[in-house]
Amino acid sequence: MSGIFLYYMKNFIFLIKSEFQINFLLFALLIFFFSCENNDQKSAEITPDIIDSSVVMQNGLLTVSGNKIVNKNNEPVSFAGNSFFWSNDNWGGERFYNSSTVKWLKNDWNAKIVRAAMGVEDPGGYLDNNQSNKERLKTIVDAAIDEGIYVIIDWHSHNAEDHLEEAKIFFQEMAQTYGEYENIIYEIYNEPLNVSWSDVVKPYALEVIQTIRSIDPDNLIIVGSPEWSQRVDLVSEDPITTFDNIAYTLHFYTVHHQEWLRERATSALNNGIPLFVTEWGSIGYSIIDSEANKWMNWCHLNKISHVNWAVNDKEEEWSIVKPGASTTGNWQESDLTEAGKLAKNIISNWPD
Ligand code: MG
Repeated sequence: MSGIFLYYMKNFIFLIKSEFQINFLLFALLIFFFSCENNDQKSAEITPDIIDSSVVMQNGLLTVSGNKIVNKNNEPVSFAGNSFFWSNDNWGGERFYNSSTVKWLKNDWNAKIVRAAMGVEDPGGYLDNNQSNKERLKTIVDAAIDEGIYVIIDWHSHNAEDHLEEAKIFFQEMAQTYGEYENIIYEIYNEPLNVSWSDVVKPYALEVIQTIRSIDPDNLIIVGSPEWSQRVDLVSEDPITTFDNIAYTLHFYTVHHQEWLRERATSALNNGIPLFVTEWGSIGYSIIDSEANKWMNWCHLNKISHVNWAVNDKEEEWSIVKPGASTTGNWQESDLTEAGKLAKNIISNWPD
């Protein structure tokens, strides 16, 4: 309840322009925070057996139920967190692939989920150097398990159907290594391009899913859709029915993807498929990004998890920190970009 209150308070703050009003609202929020903390202390005093409070301990394995993703108590859940940038050698984003950054995102941003985006085909990716890229990914996965948060193992590809055998070998190893951990979510194809769902992406997905399921029977698997994971409508007309616990990727960037994509995604939900936003980006507070607000309200309404792109300091609109910021967390507010400030606001106040 308190989370929902904070979320809407923060939404309201998006719309307030006067600094005095912001200060006043922040003050009100602080008072609210302290009153919540007192309540928490009281309940802790009367509950001697304090259980592990990590999000994965509380929610366990995530599974699909109808068009929702539910926790171990069969309750629909929506989590917020961060995606790392492409893992490729020497692209810059790989410098952030360390346990300190994961710890910082969990503790300072309240991230409940992170995504390791392992580049595949492009220079410096998995096909060029599988050891370095896999090690980076495993660093993030191991850190997320240590921190008790969810983690997406993302095959960050635009042409995965061209490298099916490599994908199967990789996910076989991931399922063997991590299949027993409730933290793990497999994302087997980041963003297919302009290819057929039924004739290209779906057949690829069925083969990779079969490989994973022969080892790991139960962890959530997320599948991309054509046109940069925006054609969830096509998926909903021909979904995967031969395996359980399959959800579908939806990606949006607020400057490009607006009401038309929400309507398309809503119709896909209505057709019965579950969605998972494994990437979204905004241009942050550089303008009043009302689209970010609309998307977040949509995610909240439909109980959809979302992961913000990207943990990086590259000089581009989606990076959450400014060029030269620490690569191990410990960021001050002044280290964050406008997109980073907006993302932190949303993630750290997202209601569980
Ligand atoms: Mg498993």
